Amino acid sequence: MNAQLQVDRTLPTSREQGEAYVRIENVTKKFGDFAAVDSVSLEVYRGEIFCLLGGSGSGKTTLLRMLAGFETPSAGKIYIDGQDMSAIPPYERRVNMMFQSYALFPHMTVEKNVAFGLEQEKLGRQEIRSRVGEILEIVKMTAFVARKPHQLSGGQRQRVALARALVKRPKLLLLDEPLAALDRKLRENTQFELINIQKRLGVTFIVVTHDQEEAMTLSSRMGVMNHGRIAQVGSPAAIYESPATKFVADFIGSVNMFEGRVTDAGSGALRIDSEELGCVVAVDRSIDCARGATVWTAVRPEKINIRRDPGQGSQENLVRGTVKEIAYMGDVSIYHVQIGSGKMVRVTLPNIMRDAGQRIMRDETVYLSWHESSPVVLTE
Ligand code: ATP
Repeated sequence: MNAQLQVDRTLPTSREQGEAYVRIENVTKKFGDFAAVDSVSLEVYRGEIFCLLGGSGSGKTTLLRMLAGFETPSAGKIYIDGQDMSAIPPYERRVNMMFQSYALFPHMTVEKNVAFGLEQEKLGRQEIRSRVGEILEIVKMTAFVARKPHQLSGGQRQRVALARALVKRPKLLLLDEPLAALDRKLRENTQFELINIQKRLGVTFIVVTHDQEEAMTLSSRMGVMNHGRIAQVGSPAAIYESPATKFVADFIGSVNMFEGRVTDAGSGALRIDSEELGCVVAVDRSIDCARGATVWTAVRPEKINIRRDPGQGSQENLVRGTVKEIAYMGDVSIYHVQIGSGKMVRVTLPNIMRDAGQRIMRDETVYLSWHESSPVVLTE
């Protein structure tokens, strides 16, 4: 079994007990007239890994800095473990922040770097030695205690930074793009290690990232930010499969989106006529919208079938097109199919067989179809 996948997500969080560990209530942060964070309300539970995900400038770091106490909210309140943080300076919060740059002291050994915070607190030598030893063991850096940061790889430096942040036993650890400096393969391994370490220590993590794969791997829940606001909060699966808005659908993963008009909004089903798509979209559930309403149908590329013949079944959820581009990615192939309206539809197919003899080729006429459960219908 792959060691990476031995991730324990079973530690109970305070969510199950119903109380929030971090409560952000209507928090706004203005720089001049500009609201970098705009009326954000959010609850994070004890023992969670919560990811704040959003594009550049969406307000993630500003929100994190307010939790650490480095910025003061212009309006609203932050509670940590039930305590109002308004008058609590950073050094009195049981909160630690791990920065993107790691900020290790270049002239100090790994051991000294990790011990530094405890020495500042004037703890006894024995206590420091034992706590540093324990945390270096957890991040698997015991063999490197005598090295200096420039003698370490990026991944090793990241672990030292993590050890240094955790050795002070914070209740809440804030991580700003913690894995940004690592290459893709190392980042994937480190994501699983981070989850294991977090579960072992039971510290609540709030992680800022602009990398959606990272957010989906790490988080128990995530908040998608856009222009200083929280667009949606939910588990990675809920956000991917049931995005609440066009922005979230488009921001997380890739999606095909078609405008249409509701022609039938019966109980438990919907019919949408989409000129853009050139067919009727049938959906096996209803949403709160009236007949005649303009809506957007979002279908993920992996939920679309691609065939050479139209089949015998219904004409709904079926559209003809021409393959314009094929990108072979190894695990999947991406097809760009142009439909009657001129719009390009993206379809991904897993490459299950090493040599799929009858592979669909560029310029072929194809039929795209999907199940009634696949489309997500959005009104905003
Ligand atoms: P990135 O992923 O690029 O780090 P972010 O989502 O973390 O982005 P923030 O750093 O929170 O974004 O910045 C949000 C907005 O607030 C940006 O438009 C930024 O220019 C602005 N901003 C941040 N700090 C200040 C400041 N001290 N003074 C003025 N504007 C600021």
